[in-house]
Amino acid sequence: MQRVWCRDLPATDMLVRGARVVDPLIGLDAVRDVLVRKGVVTAVGDAVETPKGVRVVDAAGCLLLPGFVDLHTHTRVPGREDEEDLASVSRAAAAGGYVAIFAMANTDPAVDTAPVLESLQRKAQAEALVPVGLFAAVTRGLQSAELTEMWELAEAGAVGFSDDGRPLANCHILRRAMQYLKVTDRFIAVHAQDDSLMGAGVMHEGAVSARLGLAGIPTISESIDVARSLEIAAYEDARLHLCHVSTARSLEHLALARQSGVRVTAEATPHHLTLTDEAVESLDSNLKMNPPLRPESDRKALVEALRSGVIDCIATDHAPHAQQEKEVPFEEAAFGTVGLETAFAVIYAAMVPGKQLTLPVLVERMSQAPARIAGIAEPTIQSKRPADFCVVDPRATWQVTAASLHSKCANSAWLGATLKGRVKLTVAAGRLVWEDGA
Ligand SMILES: [Zn+2]
Ligand SMILES: [Zn+2]
Repeated sequence: MQRVWCRDLPATDMLVRGARVVDPLIGLDAVRDVLVRKGVVTAVGDAVETPKGVRVVDAAGCLLLPGFVDLHTHTRVPGREDEEDLASVSRAAAAGGYVAIFAMANTDPAVDTAPVLESLQRKAQAEALVPVGLFAAVTRGLQSAELTEMWELAEAGAVGFSDDGRPLANCHILRRAMQYLKVTDRFIAVHAQDDSLMGAGVMHEGAVSARLGLAGIPTISESIDVARSLEIAAYEDARLHLCHVSTARSLEHLALARQSGVRVTAEATPHHLTLTDEAVESLDSNLKMNPPLRPESDRKALVEALRSGVIDCIATDHAPHAQQEKEVPFEEAAFGTVGLETAFAVIYAAMVPGKQLTLPVLVERMSQAPARIAGIAEPTIQSKRPADFCVVDPRATWQVTAASLHSKCANSAWLGATLKGRVKLTVAAGRLVWEDGA
């Protein structure tokens, strides 16, 4: 099991009554009472008796789901604590129904040595509400030149390796890193991007970028690097994870490689699954991300891949940015959107009522699939298992505003939007870490 770190909070005693419990791991989808004693689920059933002194939460009409796991969070720690710190990012995660998050290594300094990784563990133990796992960098300073001490970083507790934020530009370096995976039993998460094709692009290259006169990022900037990374992973029989896949062509490479036995997993983000480059007509800099929002045909292909399992999981790529990095002309704005607090509501509303995705499949892609990839215990609603769940009211509407977000930054692609579906409470590692209105 991979290691994660958080504050030591008091264990929860609670009876959640009458929620629709959906746990795809055990094929459960029924109205149940769930009793938690000292942080452990002790009963799941009809009309569970309330032990003396245990708080009862009436959850009629709500969903009780295995807690979500985010494989792709930018915590900005160390280096940009003005944008986010482990307290704020873990509160945002808890408010979004997450019970574990995994921090990317493109910080300042980068997580490229064991001492940096270990200092983050201590910080998470002091500040984080929900368990935090840590990626380590593949190359020193994310420079694609010199490998980090991968064995030492794995021993120190790195869940995997990633230079995310930057591509691994050098094939030889990527190959060497994959050879080292054999002694570390970890995976490499790749931000697929060919810099020479990306150029100075700021949005998807297509009809909309042409209309706006903005420099485009072609789909091949991503799909070429996806194909190349898959080739090297196949050759070295190494475990590869593809971050934020955004194009239909990448999915074709992925599906083919998977069929031929390459050990590859992949994620898609809430924004790529629900928004398209048409939205960029507004020139709202919160819609500027990398990879960029793509056309409807790519979005549709992503949704189908998520449904079929070609895409394994949903990851937020939560990327906080200070106001001054976003309140500039679109061309100059930083890439990225925050996403932890809106992920479930956004995808649920876009896909479940219209039946593009069933609720159990959505839950699996947000909770158990990413947990498996990370190598932590899969959240599940079963007796004798740690309480790792969230309660969501699918009828509740709320507006995304700077004040409603717990992240230090409000650069949300959904800023101002009214969303349907609100996380009412989150229990992570047996601790009550979020309660709406509390
Ligand atoms: Zn990335
Ligand atoms: Zn990222």
